[in-house]
Amino acid sequence: MDLLELIIEYHKDNERQGPGSEEATLKALSYIPDLNEKTKILDIGCGTGGQTITLAKNTTAHITAIDMLPQFLEKLIQKVKENNLIDRITVKEMLMDSLTFEEKSFDVIWSEGAIYNIGFEKGLLLWRKYLKDDGYIAVSEISWLTDTRPDEIEQYWVNAYSEIDTIKNKLSVIEKCGYTNVAHFALDDKCWIDNYYQPLIDNSEAFLKKYNYADEVKDFLEQGKIEADMYNRFKDYYSYVFYIAKKKQ
Ligand code: SAH
Repeated sequence: MDLLELIIEYHKDNERQGPGSEEATLKALSYIPDLNEKTKILDIGCGTGGQTITLAKNTTAHITAIDMLPQFLEKLIQKVKENNLIDRITVKEMLMDSLTFEEKSFDVIWSEGAIYNIGFEKGLLLWRKYLKDDGYIAVSEISWLTDTRPDEIEQYWVNAYSEIDTIKNKLSVIEKCGYTNVAHFALDDKCWIDNYYQPLIDNSEAFLKKYNYADEVKDFLEQGKIEADMYNRFKDYYSYVFYIAKKKQ
């Protein structure tokens, strides 16, 4: 059993695969004007589609949702059917660093808890050409909330994701990549605990049992527990931050 299989099995039954909430999605959406039935939204790294469904239910736009994992997309397809949204949501298996759309196809690019997979700057640069001239991007990205922080948490996150940086520096990366910043806000505790870590922790015992208490599964769960403990101890210093920006001409 490889690590990717464990990750998929552990996360696929959850509402979301990263910190977030319906409220946060709606707040980010509120900064984007003129959404209508002609609006085309691309949701990159959609996972099982928590935010995809929120976007569809709260706009009249058409949404294309892409992810590399068919196991997650199957869950989204189920939700699309249950919610009668087949006409509004197109689901495609695709890699975020080799999108196969025409240039300038989308009014909005959305990506929650996913851009880090190819890196914030790389994603912003690569995705820009798929936006129409007056298009918007809304992405969430782990960021430092303060200028300084304890060594322990600095080491932990820099080791896990070297591009983690302060909000100020993220905002300048966004500008440098050809966008004008519109708004940003940090995700709250509920996004991290109630919607992300807690459901995973609640499922841990059943998950261990399913794999007959295998050592590699114990190690995998232990890594998750360490990450959640870090959050509880050091949440004053970092969070996911939602960045909303407009394509610069
Ligand atoms: N947006 C969802 C999922 C976030 S988890 C939510 O907030 O709940 C990150 C997602 O990115 C996962 O579903 C993972 O399969 C996907 N992903 C990771 N690397 C990818 C890549 N290179 N191309 C496409 N999707 C990728």
